[in-house]
Amino acid sequence: MEYFSEILLLGIDSIVFTICLKQYVHYKNAVTAVKSVELHDIGPDLETLLNDYPKNKVNYIAIRGVVKPLGESLQSINKKDVTGVIQKLSVREHVIARTSAGYWSDQERTIHQVCNTVPFVLKNGWHSVEITDPLSADILDLDVISDNFQPSVPTFIDHIWGFFTGVRQRGIQSTEKMLREDSIITAIGELSRTKTKSSYLALQPPLSGPPFYLTSMSITSLIRKLDDRKKIYRVFCVLSGAIGLVLGGIMARRYWKSKEEQRLADQLRRTLETSRQERRQRVRDRDLRDDQICVVCKTNAREIILLPCGHVCICEDCSSSISDNCPICRTQIIQKAAAYIV
Ligand SMILES: [Zn+2]
Ligand SMILES: [Zn+2]
Repeated sequence: MEYFSEILLLGIDSIVFTICLKQYVHYKNAVTAVKSVELHDIGPDLETLLNDYPKNKVNYIAIRGVVKPLGESLQSINKKDVTGVIQKLSVREHVIARTSAGYWSDQERTIHQVCNTVPFVLKNGWHSVEITDPLSADILDLDVISDNFQPSVPTFIDHIWGFFTGVRQRGIQSTEKMLREDSIITAIGELSRTKTKSSYLALQPPLSGPPFYLTSMSITSLIRKLDDRKKIYRVFCVLSGAIGLVLGGIMARRYWKSKEEQRLADQLRRTLETSRQERRQRVRDRDLRDDQICVVCKTNAREIILLPCGHVCICEDCSSSISDNCPICRTQIIQKAAAYIV
């Protein structure tokens, strides 16, 4: 295919552009949403506020408080004195793999990941708000409790095996992250009363669309972080857009050039044809006998032999419009050739 590489590149570029644009719009909306969100203290005022809203629901609100489990807390596996309410354990394998280009590069893949949670609240004094569905938060800041890397000690056989398979073990990294008990976090989401006990308040992922955040950052730092991401995606959008335009331009130029070349070739062919016809017209014998005149136009001399029947009965001008059957014997025309009768 003529434009295969350009179309392929343009396709990849469009996908990158779409992803970046989507992310840019996401972060742009997130910045607007977080900028307009109001931070409220967890306390009796929150109850009163909720009563003022329709259906006792605040669509988007920020609260800040101390993390406390509703029941038993989770205990860290690596540091026994650390307790928390969300625990993420992951085991990642680090390898050096030979790429298709022939060089070796560092790669890592997750072998195992476990996530544990217990119900928890954000507390301020005697008042608290339960956090529902924390794992679906767009940003969930967890503390790294432990991060161990165990390098593998390869044997001689491992080296040889690695050379042939193209994969060499570097080691295993196991990480434990937790949302600690008693840490202070900002939660942004939808506030309503819990279904089980109407006196309890709960913060959950907003149904109306804006993102759900559980972060140790203040709102200003969160806005800055989101704004930075928005800017990065804007740069990527502009870059991929520019690449797309350049590729489109190159394709349009090539297409226009080939069209122009074809037009010139057609023009040349037509000019040659006309001049050839004129030349033939000039040399045609005007004083022809009836059996020498074309059976179609009755003007020009017979100039074309039709095969396989072998009839010489038409002129060159008429031959361009006759391609099916011989006008004399109706035999199907397979081939035409110039006939020189001397
Ligand atoms: Zn004719
Ligand atoms: Zn014939």
